[in-house]
Amino acid sequence: MSGWRFLILGFLTVWWAAGCMTEPAVPPPGFAPSPKKAAETPPGWVPDGYVEAIPRMPEKGYLLKPLAPEVYFFSNGVYNTLFVVTEEGVILIDPIQGAGHLLRRAVREVTEQPVIMMIYSHPHRDHIGDASMFAEGIKIVAHRETQKLLQRYNDPARPVPNIAFGEKYAVELGGLRLDLIYPGDGHGKGNIIIHIPQRRLLMFVDVATPKSVPFKNFTTVDIFSQIAGLKRALQLDFDTYVAGHLYRPGKRAEMEEVLQYYFASKRANAEALKRVSIGKIMRESRSKDIERKMGEYYEAVAEECYRILKPKWKPRLMGFEAFARGHCDVWTAFHRTHQSPGNAR
Ligand SMILES: [Zn+2]
Repeated sequence: MSGWRFLILGFLTVWWAAGCMTEPAVPPPGFAPSPKKAAETPPGWVPDGYVEAIPRMPEKGYLLKPLAPEVYFFSNGVYNTLFVVTEEGVILIDPIQGAGHLLRRAVREVTEQPVIMMIYSHPHRDHIGDASMFAEGIKIVAHRETQKLLQRYNDPARPVPNIAFGEKYAVELGGLRLDLIYPGDGHGKGNIIIHIPQRRLLMFVDVATPKSVPFKNFTTVDIFSQIAGLKRALQLDFDTYVAGHLYRPGKRAEMEEVLQYYFASKRANAEALKRVSIGKIMRESRSKDIERKMGEYYEAVAEECYRILKPKWKPRLMGFEAFARGHCDVWTAFHRTHQSPGNAR
């Protein structure tokens, strides 16, 4: 196995094992089934919908490209982040777990300046798990909730931020300003929007990977906050955004598209709840276990919701086959226990 393949396999393993994953990536080149194997596909296999293949990584193991003056996009194919190079030093956002040495090399590719500040987008280990490699004597900025959680975790790999903020915080270095904005809990406590207005760039991790449905069960602690966060992000001035996953940044329209999927899945679930008769499922069930009967009902609702979403969304977004039913389940739980606060359509 060549070096880059080994690296990618490692990253995929870490990613899938991690707790805050977003959308799945398709297998990198070399892992895709050969045409012969595809012909042996077992009956019952449901074909993929939209697929965007990850390009072959360069031999060095990462992609690095300037997104705007001073701002560099880094990706190992599965995870991505930004760093900012100024005459006063480098600001590194999200020291990705397992990619710290590559990030260090990437920074050295473009500048001799030291990393003098880190920004954590949120506390999840898969995104900031190599922080300790850069933390010595520098400023680490994050939301107050991220600070609290990292104090509690006491994880040497993720040093506690020494600058924490509430609603909003501005970082200024070398004439460039980064606005850090907290839109609420959403994907997890402390997950912030990082906006660079002068460069029309934005970073918002784990909520809207371009051309992908959200990850399993939306990976959310508060689905409405998550949607409100995306709406907040879309009020800001930007053309390009970084989602934390995949090999490339997204365009504004791609964030809007994923937000539309959030709304569509909510509507589809409401419709499915109307269409599926709980009485019929209960009568026809072979089970005597009421809990199991309820489970069968919710499965039927999720299946109907999936069928409603499929014609439009399967051809548009990756991950549909894996996660659409789970999204429907999240909305079922929501519709059973909450009244819509009206910030989703
Ligand atoms: Zn996360």
